Amino acid sequence: MIPSSFEYFAPTTLSEAQTLLRRYGGDAKVVAGGHSLIPLMKMRLSEPGYLIDLGGVDELSYIREDDGGLAIGAMTTYYDIESSPLVKTKYPVLAEATALVADIQVRNKGTIGGSMAHADPSADLTAVVLALEAELRSGSSRAQRSMPAHRFFVDTFTTTLRDNEILTEIRLPALPAKTGGAYRKFANKASHFAEVGIAALVTIDGGVCQRVRIGVTGAGPIASRARGAERALEGKEPTQRNIATAANRAGRGIEFQSNIHASAEYRAHLTTVYARRALEEAVSRAG
Ligand SMILES: Cc1cc2nc3c(=O)[nH]c(=O)nc-3n(C[C@H](O)[C@H](O)[C@H](O)COP(=O)(O)OP(=O)(O)OC[C@H]3O[C@@H](n4cnc5c(N)ncnc54)[C@H](O)[C@@H]3O)c2cc1C
Repeated sequence: MIPSSFEYFAPTTLSEAQTLLRRYGGDAKVVAGGHSLIPLMKMRLSEPGYLIDLGGVDELSYIREDDGGLAIGAMTTYYDIESSPLVKTKYPVLAEATALVADIQVRNKGTIGGSMAHADPSADLTAVVLALEAELRSGSSRAQRSMPAHRFFVDTFTTTLRDNEILTEIRLPALPAKTGGAYRKFANKASHFAEVGIAALVTIDGGVCQRVRIGVTGAGPIASRARGAERALEGKEPTQRNIATAANRAGRGIEFQSNIHASAEYRAHLTTVYARRALEEAVSRAG
């Protein structure tokens, strides 16, 4: 349980951190809250020679209004998000999901950027950023780029981030009026990670679901959008029957995981049940 030796850096600006990352490349790792990386280092599943601590890079910690939406700095903690009046007002589904992550100790240190970059298949916020159609902004010492969430997550613990890049910002676009959202998860009793978690957003106008967005986490090797379920409900009245039909399609295309916590069959069942619950709640909050 003792990590292999490494050199530690504590930059105070983003550009300093990016310069260090360029210098040490593939042998370096940035650390944010450390709740995922430090355990991996202690188990020697990750052995970076250089550790670049982003904890002192204050410019990466913020929540601000941006073009009708919100821009959230990568180093913003879960606690800052769940307690933000801006997030509670504009994206209550994000505040709701964040408050369900782990326990208060983890939420005090863990960051939204760390959660995105780590891409744990059972992380809560991955489902939410997918449903919110967030853009993830990253940068190296040379260039910046932005990517929609559905292209950012590539596989289990794998994203499109390059070795020399730091995730800097999560941008949430404005939601249409009359949109309701909900996050529902079946949580692991010990860690609170999602065995299955569903984020649903429904926009209702004229008594019809005009727009539906659903993010699924925990079920498969990677968080994903439930596009079949979204299409099944769009253009329809939000009746219990239509919601149930859509929820039945939430698992389509998912390669369900099986492990000591839940079998693939059970996760498939949970996906339908929690999709229905999240959609029902989102509908009741719409308008
Ligand atoms: C007991 C326990 C229970 C937990 N329960 C839950 C839960 O219920 N739900 C849930 O979603 N999560 C849970 N987690 C995980 C927790 O949310 C982690 O904090 C999170 O996954 C990673 O965030 P972090 O800031 O700690 O990142 P770190 O551990 O510091 O980093 C994780 C990875 O991301 C990289 N990284 C971090 N920031 C950046 C950046 N800005 N740019 C590029 N790369 C970066 C690091 O190099 C590392 O590879 C739990 C963790 C613990 C210890």
